[in-house]
Order: sequence, then C-alpha cells, then structure tokens
Amino acid sequence: MADALDPVEVAIVGGGIIGASTAYWLAKAGVRTALFEKGTLACEQSSRNWGWVRTLSRDLPEVPLALLANRRWRELQQQVEVGYRQNGLLYLQENDRDAQEHARWYDAAKTYGAKASFLTKRDMQKLLPTSARAWTGAMYSESCGVAEPTQATAGIAALAREAGATIVENCAVRGIERSAGRVSAIVTEAGRVDAQNVLVAAGAWSRLFCGNLGVEFPQLKVRGSVLRTAPFDARMSVSINGKDFTCRKRTDGGYTVSQFSASLAELVPDSFRLMSKFIRPWIANRAIVRVRVSERFIDELKIPRRFPSDSETPFEHCRMLDPPPYAKGIDQAWTRLRESFPVFKGARIAHAWGGYIDVTPDAMPVIGALHDVPGLYLASGFSGHGFGIGPAVGECVAALIRGDRPPVDLEPFRLGRYA
Ligand SMILES: Cc1cc2nc3c(=O)[nH]c(=O)nc-3n(C[C@H](O)[C@H](O)[C@H](O)COP(=O)(O)OP(=O)(O)OC[C@H]3O[C@@H](n4cnc5c(N)ncnc54)[C@H](O)[C@@H]3O)c2cc1C
Repeated sequence: MADALDPVEVAIVGGGIIGASTAYWLAKAGVRTALFEKGTLACEQSSRNWGWVRTLSRDLPEVPLALLANRRWRELQQQVEVGYRQNGLLYLQENDRDAQEHARWYDAAKTYGAKASFLTKRDMQKLLPTSARAWTGAMYSESCGVAEPTQATAGIAALAREAGATIVENCAVRGIERSAGRVSAIVTEAGRVDAQNVLVAAGAWSRLFCGNLGVEFPQLKVRGSVLRTAPFDARMSVSINGKDFTCRKRTDGGYTVSQFSASLAELVPDSFRLMSKFIRPWIANRAIVRVRVSERFIDELKIPRRFPSDSETPFEHCRMLDPPPYAKGIDQAWTRLRESFPVFKGARIAHAWGGYIDVTPDAMPVIGALHDVPGLYLASGFSGHGFGIGPAVGECVAALIRGDRPPVDLEPFRLGRYA
C-alpha cells in the first residue's frame, strides 16, 4: 500500500464529495492520487446537506452536469451503498406566477436536455392525498432523486481506495510548493508530498487556501439549517419543494426537512472585501438569505490571510465547521410542513444541525485550471447544490487534469468570469 507521503501525480485538498469523486475517477484511470482531509471525510457540507440530486431549477450550464450525475449515481449505487434512489421531485405551485416561473425555466432548460412535466391541480390531489393545501399545480421531474449525505462520500472514497487512491484523514494541507513556476508539491501537517498537480476542493476553505497562494477566489459562507424526523410513515416518498418548506424521505425511515429561507449570511470581514461582487445577489435573494451581524466577524478577523507552511495554519486550528442551526428558519419550515401535511403532526424531530454553504457571486461553482499557477486546479463554490452533481464534477475534473476533454463543457465555470 502507498505511504501517505509517497509522490503522486495528483494531490487533492479536501475530502468532501468533490474531492472524493475526483479521486475515484483519477484512480480508476490509473493516475497516482492522494486526497488529504483536515478533519474526517465529508465532515462539512457533504454530510450536512438535504441529499437532493436534482436537475429541476438549476442554472442552465449546470443542467448537463446534473444529467450526467443521474447516470453516475445509479452506477455508484450498484457498486457501493450511497443511499441513491430515483424518487422524483416536485416543485409545488401556489399561483400562476409560480407556474409561469417554472415554465420559463423549463423552456430554457429543455434545450440543455432537462426533462420535466407539469401537473395540474387535479393531478396534485391524486399524488398528495394527505395535503391540506390546494396546490395549483407543480413542476415534476421523475429523474430527480436523493442520495444519503452520511453515506455517499464515504462510499465513493471507498471505491477510490479500491482503485488505488490514498485517502488521508486528519491531515491538513498547509500550502503548495512550486518549481519553475509550476506546482511541484503540497505541504501537509505530516510533511511534504511531491505532486505534479493539485486540486483545491476545500469547500468553504477554498478562498483562504487560494488567497494564500495569491489567487483571488470570491467566495463567502452562508449558514444553512436542517432537521430530520425520527422514522415515520407520512405515505410520501417523492421529494417536495414548497415555498416555505422542503421535505424528502430518508433511508433510515425519517424525513429531512428544511426550507431555502433557513439561510443566514453572517457579516464577516470578507463580506466587506467582496461587497461589490455580492451586493446584487444579496439584494436579489433577500427573501431567502437573511444578512446578519454575528460574533463570527471577530472570529474571522483573527484568521490570518497569509501564512507560512512550516507552522500550524488555520486549517488545523479548525478541523470542522460545525455551526448551530438557525432555529427560526427551521422552526418555520417545520410549522409550514405540518400545516400543509397534517400527517406530520405525528412525527418527532430527532435532530437539527447547521452547515456552512460556500457561495459565489453568481451561485455557480468554479471548476477549472488556475492558469496563473500551472498544475493548480480549483473545484469549489457550489453554492448549495454541489452534492447532486458531485460525481459528474469529479469525472470532469479528472478528465481535465489528465488532459482529456471533459464530458461536459466547463467553460461557463472558469474563475476568469469574475475578473
Ligand atoms: C444545509 C445544506 C443543504 C444543502 N443541500 C444540498 C442538496 O440538497 N443538494 C445538493 O446538491 N447540494 C446541497 N448542498 C450543497 C452541498 O452540500 C455542497 O455543494 C457540496 O457538499 C460541496 O462539496 P465539496 O466537496 O466542495 O465541499 P465540502 O463537503 O465542504 O468538503 C470540503 C472539505 O475540505 C476540507 N478542507 C478544507 N481545507 C482543507 C485543507 N487545507 N486541508 C485538508 N482538507 C481541507 C474540509 O474539512 C471539508 O471536509 C447543501 C449544503 C448545505 C450546508
């Protein structure tokens, strides 16, 4: 078995779904790969999300990634337990405006290959007999599904290991070394690893990691909040997006519940540094994301923006971001779900949690080579929807690093769009 500090062709910073999926595709292609995670696999966003694997309502350039991901999730599930099921997704409509908005999205998205159908009020009564609300209709996709965040990354990492990748947990990457301008090694807290290529898949930490290398990546964090019920049969297996609640069945028998508006954008020093890039999305999304002053301002002010690799870095100082849930946001989702589906009045909340979502100004990820530093790649900023497309992103990034043509056009995701 390879030693954690053996030279590799590709070193990956971060063991979330993006890092693990890329390691899998690289190792499968026979590329010597090592992944380093400062905490444990998927300890941040990738284990804390809702588990949606969706095509509906995606930004258009992401639709081909979502379609490819549907195939890859199915194949993964045949090899290892990732908790994937194709159970369909409903975007509920309360009025004509909702219906028009959905129709506008679909008109544009179908040219990218998206498939959806539109259900009438009558269809909804048949499909959701336990609903107490009269939905005017819904946009529905039977090809959407869910996977279990607590199983998926571990499952994919196990396949990557089987294919020959080295996966190292509790080992932060402090920085990189260059030789003649290009990447030559990473420096971890356990020592140096020769590497011709480095992928930064560090989730909410990617801005800090890249900034220390002189690469500006406009990324902030938004606090999302979620709850799960104890096992309970609400006779509902399809996933649902209502305006003020979301709900999906889990493999443990419970339901994961949240809402898009359960998100908080806490003001931190980076909020001011990046104000000119984020002010428009903050205003446009003010109904969903609430901007707040918080004690995190002081905590983040203390984090150095430049640091050497020969002593402890912020990545070791904080092994895992584990924020508390935003109680008001999830209480509201829970109340609205039970008003809409009274059957949930018999359910019990088993657990609630928070998670920092890494966001970019246009809510689309950066996926590509960082041309200022040959050999350095970035796949980050998934803005709350990277789990579902994770397996496809890993395949594309692996192809890119190997010098092959990625199966999906990555041009819309280049970092240069923010210049
Ligand atoms: C509440 C919530 C709900 C969401 N719901 C959905 C959903 O339903 N569907 C969907 O598609 N997406 C959803 N998302 C978004 C999705 O979870 C993320 O887009 C995706 O998990 C990002 O994966 P990642 O690998 O980029 O980042 P992460 O999962 O955050 O992984 C990055 C990893 O890098 C590690 N790391 C950072 N710096 C270093 C370093 N220097 N050295 C070593 N390791 C390092 C971190 O510890 C972390 O484990 C949601 C997110 C949240 C928080």
